[in-house]
Amino acid sequence: MSTLFNNYARRPVHLVKGEGTVVEDANGKKYLDFTSGIAVVSLGHAHPAIVKAIQAQSEKLWHVSNLFESPEQKKLAATLMKDTHFSHSFFCNSGAEANEAAIKLARKHSGKTTIITFDQSFHGRTFGAMAATGQEKIKQGFGPMLETFKTVPFNDPAKLEAAIDDDVAAIMLEVIQGEGGIHAVTPEFASAISDICKSKGILCIVDEVQTGIGRTGTRYAYEQTGLKPDILTLAKGLGGGFPIGAMLGTAELFDSFGPGTHGTTFGGNPLAVAVAQTVVDHVFAEDFLKDVQEKSNALIRKLNECLPPERFDIRGNGLLIGIDCKEDVAPFIRQAEEAGLLVVQAGSNVIRMLPPLTVTEEEIDQAVTILTSILLVPTTI
Ligand code: PLP
Repeated sequence: MSTLFNNYARRPVHLVKGEGTVVEDANGKKYLDFTSGIAVVSLGHAHPAIVKAIQAQSEKLWHVSNLFESPEQKKLAATLMKDTHFSHSFFCNSGAEANEAAIKLARKHSGKTTIITFDQSFHGRTFGAMAATGQEKIKQGFGPMLETFKTVPFNDPAKLEAAIDDDVAAIMLEVIQGEGGIHAVTPEFASAISDICKSKGILCIVDEVQTGIGRTGTRYAYEQTGLKPDILTLAKGLGGGFPIGAMLGTAELFDSFGPGTHGTTFGGNPLAVAVAQTVVDHVFAEDFLKDVQEKSNALIRKLNECLPPERFDIRGNGLLIGIDCKEDVAPFIRQAEEAGLLVVQAGSNVIRMLPPLTVTEEEIDQAVTILTSILLVPTTI
């Protein structure tokens, strides 16, 4: 019996090293990693700039408490918020923690308690983030949830409108639902959310834990939607593999998070910040994001060329792409792994491809060849 709890359905592969998009298991077998540790390894495995940053910082200072000044956190915050409408940041260690901070800030600032979230959303596994999540299977067995989350259908303006009352502090959404199956907010729904938030004084929280930091071809995915969130949450790709999360907020929210209202021991420590600064300096460079968009176009074009639309629906943006196969994809994912390609599921019917943002066109070609050879095997004899 394992010394570990059984809370992950682990695949029987032990990965021991990686470089760029390629990872290697303990038997020396190589794989193209189109999971990126689920949208984490944004610059690929063992990127030389990250290795250098972590080495340099580890020789100076690993950790100091947030009770001390941190010009490094201020610089990272300024980089994240440059040319945005955000003016303040808070650093933590994970996506769920960033969302907990957002939930607390929205409630404290508004003095209200209801937060509206959406069916099939995913916001994390801590109690607040779990209660916010619009998937029953995530909540099963844990007893009563926090009662002040209301979950309504995604992309349905009338149902959202009907859920609004005087106690709504915030509307919280992913602009592309990642875990829920790669479903993007429609322009009409984004505009309805904006109108409701503006007219009723409700805060808009956008969870970009999965979509942020260049994953969808722009710094943040909300930039492609017309939404102007009051609070934005980040994690995953921000640290390129080192744990760090962040919450960005507007100037109006500043006074609601005074000393003692919220905190974390590790959040934004010097090692994490040094790595994240390196990641964002690379990803936010204009040519880098243009390159992500070009690779995204190539990936989507190739998938569309190979996979017939009557059997497959290709969705997503940037390098967060879902192939809805309209059947359980677990067997396909296992076969891809055997053939040397790592991909992950999103919902039961969707194969999610999220390679490092540094993936090459050649690697995209190889991945599409492997995947299409598996998906196009006739399902009936
Ligand atoms: N929010 C979104 C949109 C996510 O995709 C995830 C993780 O998959 C989380 C929050 C939770 O992040 P973490 O696992 O870092 O707590």
